[in-house]
Amino acid sequence: MSSTDLGMPAVAPRGVGHLRGEQSFPAAARIALADSQLRRNLGHATRTIRTKRASVVAELDDWEQLRLAGEALKTATMARLDEHLERLEEAVQARGGVVHWARDANEANAIVTRLVAATGESEVVKVKSMATQEIGLNEALEAVGITAHETDLAELIVQLGGDMPSHILVPAIHRNRAEIRDIFLREMPGVDPQLTTEPRRLAMAARAHLRERFLRAKVAISGANFGVADTGTLLVAESEGNGRMCLTLPDTLITVMGIEKVVPTWQDLEVFLQLLPRSSTGERMNPYNSAWTGVTPGDGPQTFHLVLLDNGRTAALADEMGRTALHCIRCSACLNVCPVYERAGGHAYGSVYPGPIGAVLSPQLTGVEDNASLPYASSLCGACFDACPVRIDIPSLLVRLRARHVDEQRSAHRVPSAEALSMAAAAWVMASPTRFAAAEKASRAARLLGRSAGRISALPPPLSAWTASRDAPRPPAETFREWWSRNRGTS
Ligand code: SF4
Repeated sequence: MSSTDLGMPAVAPRGVGHLRGEQSFPAAARIALADSQLRRNLGHATRTIRTKRASVVAELDDWEQLRLAGEALKTATMARLDEHLERLEEAVQARGGVVHWARDANEANAIVTRLVAATGESEVVKVKSMATQEIGLNEALEAVGITAHETDLAELIVQLGGDMPSHILVPAIHRNRAEIRDIFLREMPGVDPQLTTEPRRLAMAARAHLRERFLRAKVAISGANFGVADTGTLLVAESEGNGRMCLTLPDTLITVMGIEKVVPTWQDLEVFLQLLPRSSTGERMNPYNSAWTGVTPGDGPQTFHLVLLDNGRTAALADEMGRTALHCIRCSACLNVCPVYERAGGHAYGSVYPGPIGAVLSPQLTGVEDNASLPYASSLCGACFDACPVRIDIPSLLVRLRARHVDEQRSAHRVPSAEALSMAAAAWVMASPTRFAAAEKASRAARLLGRSAGRISALPPPLSAWTASRDAPRPPAETFREWWSRNRGTS
């Protein structure tokens, strides 16, 4: 029985958008781990951002109080999300904007393509937006003959390279300068053939390429970092100024915003605009914070549409603990400290939301069965919780999602899994001191397998499932019970 049969909120639909990968995390991670260039690029980039973040966070004596305030504001907002969204809708409309509600990716894509088509334009410029990546908007536009030009530098690199983003904030984190130059030389019309890997030269090439598009675009599409319910104001925080060009030059602006991005008042931004830049780019303040409210005659876009996107968010909201994943302000600090992300990279997660937050958010938006391997893509070391500016307890969410997955498997399959059988056998052995002592003695035979390396990298079936992704320690020559008996004279 599906959730919709019970009248419960629906998860994000299959076959549209980028929340589900084609492979499980272990299969995709194995491919990524074999790419040493990718691991070098990721290691260098995440180390650099981590160091910057640590130094600006250390400047604030009240950082922990700010985190607590961020957490409390998000908890209170989620508890009355419906009211805040209705207030936001009212305020946007009162200031000349039009609000659309999209139940899922299909509805959101249909609304945006219809709105662009109505302008008669066949191309749009885009501000970096996770929500539009999530719903696969570029593909939906392309299907009706509308070209979307990404204008954020990293998104542009990803788009020109025919690639997928691999980081929330730095989508091209997996590319180094030489690779970027090669993409520009190959894909950017009219680029200087002598282009070097110097960052300034690469940025100048991108700027020249984009400027022409900014000047001719009549329609822009953006996401939003925050939507203020009190006044109907939307806000985008960015570093390059491309967002501001998109938000001010075209005649029509269409913003796609996840419903969890609403904040009740401007005062709330006082907290979030301190937490976000320090946690994301390691800056005290974003170089560009652009805020707009409806339409202003003679200034900026004269037509403004806000598309409020659900796509599985109310399903996540229905779970009192799971809803905390919706508190995320997409700073990506948890990615940069995660030992699993640093080695496997973003593509291994299959979803546009990679890293620790992706491992808890994607399965909740799609239903756990469609992203069943993601809650296991973690060592549960807790670094993500320590780094999160709104204190999302990602490790506890991961454990809860693992439990949900195991429960679903148990009720879906009458025949117990190999893992369930192993656990039942282990419980039977451990319930009896005699059986446990016998098992300890028997395990000594495995010492032969790990003689040279001191660890066992391949056990025979069914234990091979364990050593397929990790080594097993070589059993010690003496068990603890034998040691105890030898030293304390009793067992
Ligand atoms: S979960 Fe926390 S640390 Fe990770 S991206 Fe979201 S807000 Fe940032």
